[in-house]
Amino acid sequence: MAESGYDYDLFVIGAGSGGVRAARIAAQAGARVAIAEEFRIGGTCVIRGCVPKKYMVYASDYGRKLDEARDYGWDVGEPDFDFPKFMTKMHNEVDRLSGIYLRNLANAGVDVFEERAEMQDDHTVLIKESGKTISADKILIATGGTPWRPAPEELPGVEHTITSNEIFHLEELPKQIVIGGGGYIACEFAHIFAGLGVETCLVYRGDTVLNGFDWDVRTAVHDGLTDAGVRVITQAVFDKIEKRDGEECPYKVHLSNGTTVNADVVVMAVGRRAATEGLGCDKAGVKLSERGAVIVDEKSQTSVPNIYAVGDVTDRIALTPVAIREGHSFADTVFGGNEWSFDHDDVPSAVFTQPEVGTVGMTEAEARKAYGDVDIYKTNFGPMKIALLEKKERVMFKLVVRQDDQRVVGVHIVSPDAGEMIQMLGIAVKMGATKAQFDATCAVHPTVAEEIVTLRQKWVPETESA
Ligand code: NDP
Repeated sequence: MAESGYDYDLFVIGAGSGGVRAARIAAQAGARVAIAEEFRIGGTCVIRGCVPKKYMVYASDYGRKLDEARDYGWDVGEPDFDFPKFMTKMHNEVDRLSGIYLRNLANAGVDVFEERAEMQDDHTVLIKESGKTISADKILIATGGTPWRPAPEELPGVEHTITSNEIFHLEELPKQIVIGGGGYIACEFAHIFAGLGVETCLVYRGDTVLNGFDWDVRTAVHDGLTDAGVRVITQAVFDKIEKRDGEECPYKVHLSNGTTVNADVVVMAVGRRAATEGLGCDKAGVKLSERGAVIVDEKSQTSVPNIYAVGDVTDRIALTPVAIREGHSFADTVFGGNEWSFDHDDVPSAVFTQPEVGTVGMTEAEARKAYGDVDIYKTNFGPMKIALLEKKERVMFKLVVRQDDQRVVGVHIVSPDAGEMIQMLGIAVKMGATKAQFDATCAVHPTVAEEIVTLRQKWVPETESA
């Protein structure tokens, strides 16, 4: 029994990035803490998201690097990729990381229940398999998100599709893959499979992928998909998936534009939803948004004062480091006597397309809407390395500068290693650096990144320059 008079001071539902961090910090602050996880300790990021995905990006990128090596004079013979061998190694690493998460929880003194938990009321949690009822002073909902798919009435044959959950368990490399969607997951996996030599088709309902990103990023990534050999079909969605027995590519995907595409693997990457179904939010009185996400304030507190929520389940910014910070600030504030809340502005992020996207701050459109006048600096160039390559891949850098005080309010990059670059640039943007301070920073030569401090020419829209 905890000091609070309940079984635990804190019960965390969901052992992903946000939940694990919150549980550990709260326990280290002296709280009696339990955590429940219905799938595997580590959550989406470690088990079926960022971590295995990044290994697949690395695997895919080696194919390109072998081609590049040839252009630089290497004789690399006829490359052969052993997909099952790679997948086994990748899963071994995922297992190792999951084990570390578990050990860290144990070391912090957190009790771990590896089963589903649901709320019975605002202080009671039912552990489903063992049927145990546990009381807690505070409850943290950290159940994350789950891939969304249309219902069979909306999309006949949807049962033949897989999502990002199953993609990490393919036993062999597909021959022809069709991916529906044009967001983070669709674009990343289109590049991964194209790079691994799979005939890849991406079907997107809009015109240009990566809706919500800066326009120059979107066009660069869209063109990059085509350059990587991905067949991109726009203005179309899946209408029906037909299974044809005995065919090498058993799925015939009927599209809304009247055409069909054949595949042996069909992936739906059409967004994720907060994992609140059956969680007992209604019983506990926790209010949800129309999309089923837990509504929270800046302290991650829900409509019920002793229940908090962090991470993707709150539908704020669905990124691992954000969930970690939200979980940490919750635990520090509620149990550590150190009140702070995570600032959701200027969160840098990357999309692991090939080349990558790195972005922080506002898009040009957002900045124009918020501030009216902005200065834009941008460049699209062939980096030094490609001079000796057959394939001429270009990179894009863009700065969005607020005109009145010359503060850099957005940086957008499409380039190899853009994820690494934007981590550093995120510091400058968060500090409120001005364009003059970017200019005053000396270039590192010869690098790709030096372009970010050598952008001198303001970009003028064609209509203005005419
Ligand atoms: P996104 O929200 O990024 O993209 C969903 C895509 O599906 C959009 O292109 C959307 O179109 C399309 N779509 C939505 N509904 C339908 C429909 N009914 N029919 C056809 N197409 C549809 O979701 P993801 O699943 O790719 O990723 C989820 C989140 O996970 C991301 O927002 C991100 O926060 C996180 N994530 C982060 C990664 C990273 O940091 N590198 C990697 C992977 C995921 P439209 O654009 O027209 O709305």
